[in-house]
Amino acid sequence: MTTYRAPLDDIRFVLRDVVGADQLPNLPGLEEATPDVIDAVLAEAARMSETVLFPLNQSGDAEGCVYDNGVVRTPAGFPEAYAKYAAGGWTSVTAEPRYGGQGLPGLVNFVIDEIMISGNMAFTAVPGLSHGAYNAILQHADDDLKDLYLPKLSDGTWTGTMCLTEPQCGSDLGLIRAKAAPADDGTYRLSGTKIFITAGEHDMAENIVHLVLARLPDAPAGTRGISLFLVPKFLPAEENGAVRPGPRNGVLCAGIEHKMGLHASPTCTMAFNDATAWLVGAPHKGMRAMFTMMNVARLAVGMQGLGVAETAYQNALAYARERPQGRPLTGTGANGSAVPIIEHADVRRMLMTMKAQVEGGRALAYWTALHVDVAMRHPDPAQRQAADDLVALMTPVVKAHLTDLGQEVADLAIQVHGGYGYIRDTGIEQLVRDVRIARIYEGTNGIQALDLVGRKLPEGTGRLLRQVFHPIDAFLSQHAEDPAAASLVTPLAKAFGRLQRVTVGMAQAALADPTEGAAAAHDYLKLLGHVTIGYLWARMGLIAKAKAGGSDAEARFHDTKLKTAEFYLQRILPHASAHAAAIAGGATAVMAVEPEAF
Ligand SMILES: Cc1cc2nc3c(=O)[nH]c(=O)nc-3n(C[C@H](O)[C@H](O)[C@H](O)COP(=O)(O)OP(=O)(O)OC[C@H]3O[C@@H](n4cnc5c(N)ncnc54)[C@H](O)[C@@H]3O)c2cc1C
Repeated sequence: MTTYRAPLDDIRFVLRDVVGADQLPNLPGLEEATPDVIDAVLAEAARMSETVLFPLNQSGDAEGCVYDNGVVRTPAGFPEAYAKYAAGGWTSVTAEPRYGGQGLPGLVNFVIDEIMISGNMAFTAVPGLSHGAYNAILQHADDDLKDLYLPKLSDGTWTGTMCLTEPQCGSDLGLIRAKAAPADDGTYRLSGTKIFITAGEHDMAENIVHLVLARLPDAPAGTRGISLFLVPKFLPAEENGAVRPGPRNGVLCAGIEHKMGLHASPTCTMAFNDATAWLVGAPHKGMRAMFTMMNVARLAVGMQGLGVAETAYQNALAYARERPQGRPLTGTGANGSAVPIIEHADVRRMLMTMKAQVEGGRALAYWTALHVDVAMRHPDPAQRQAADDLVALMTPVVKAHLTDLGQEVADLAIQVHGGYGYIRDTGIEQLVRDVRIARIYEGTNGIQALDLVGRKLPEGTGRLLRQVFHPIDAFLSQHAEDPAAASLVTPLAKAFGRLQRVTVGMAQAALADPTEGAAAAHDYLKLLGHVTIGYLWARMGLIAKAKAGGSDAEARFHDTKLKTAEFYLQRILPHASAHAAAIAGGATAVMAVEPEAF
């Protein structure tokens, strides 16, 4: 049996001391988001996750979803848990008050995501997609659609989906074949097959709102000819002034997938047959509208990596403290009885790797998420643009680096458990199976790296990159002469220097030959991820040092933070050098063997 307790002290440390969430109430519209309010919301989120979602995690995996003639049944307890989730207001955290939402900061929602995902990743797929659908409708649909659908998505009585993938088209959305033809009444009739649709059909809500990419009859080929449509499972009907699900629309679930993990989340094949559809946004501009949904979703998938990693770490730590095995190499116990495995250096290495990655990943995620709120609400357009640049740059890094990290940490949790980790009953192997998909969906991690190197780096000749390079540079200059900070600052300075050199070299090589950029993309994303987390850890280390003292518990908390910072900078950041060296190796070695010669 696994366990999970929301790490509220660690979360609070990052929010308050590292990313400055206390300033959120200064942003227009977020006046209510005071530290006390945020604390209270997160304490409730912890309760929801620990007592309602987490107890269903292993049973949901074992039972899975069942498909029967167009109907999908989720595992026992899931519909009731969803009802509690919606009644608790967790579907409406960031929704606008005029649509029944609570108008809380996006940052708070990302933290809640982490906590809920740690409890039960499969469950969170449904509200996660609804949140994305809400945002796409809010930003791109006309007022009638907003007024009709947003209150329902906000209160959770209806859920949302994102229908992009087709059998012949995954990463390359230009290959989409689904078609929508205009009808006389201003709506459209949409036909086609979408596959792998998360929560395309389920028994947790009374209606499902599909956001579907399809082509109009006059659409140009490729991604420039894709439009976004809203297709409800049941057409909305009005009764006594209230909206309820009306007649069934022409959309049916034709089956669900049998998958490696995430068994409690239905992955559906959806058949659209002359379904009544409404255009969202302008014709042929569907990719732009869908990107609104995908950018939020990509950060949320990064939180999946982080959330699962936290649970994996907690369980590995608990096991390592309990499992007696082996004798210490030194000291009086060398010939005595077996000691808990946490005493052994190799197990400690694994636990420190997990801890440093999780807490560093959390800092990266929250730092990026704070800028989402600044980009949306800051009164100064220059500040909004700067924050938007940082979010645009770091979204692929948060998505890919944190989901890689989730996989690595979950895998280490199996290793710490030894053979018991490989056995189903302990629940650890489920974490590896569940989190694996996060590196694939919402744009594979390979596609994220291409987005970073091919689109984000060249934008405004490196304008986006400045939002990360400038703060690191300023931090290093500020602490360059401080010998007490050397254990943190020196390794960061070296890695940052390497990142700067590689960036210039790669940009020049990619200009001459785009394959150079593509072949370097994965390593560049990892390099940037490691150095940015290294910067955040160096800051966290110095903050912890400055806060030394206080009660015994506080002193130990900050001392452990400082030691974990040193571990990251001295034992994990060196991986950045390997990525830099791989990039310097160039594309030739990658492409030298012709496809037929493999
Ligand atoms: C459990 C699950 C849930 C999902 N939920 C949804 C959902 O709700 N809605 C939805 O629309 N889809 C969903 N998907 C689909 C998912 O988004 C796709 O699987 C994903 O985008 C990858 O597409 P693909 O599987 O066709 O792989 P492909 O695109 O065929 O990619 C295969 C490999 O080739 C690489 N590759 C492809 N093109 C390039 C390129 N140009 N350059 C370099 N490398 C490239 C990829 O990185 C990958 O490694 C889900 C999938 C699963 C398994």
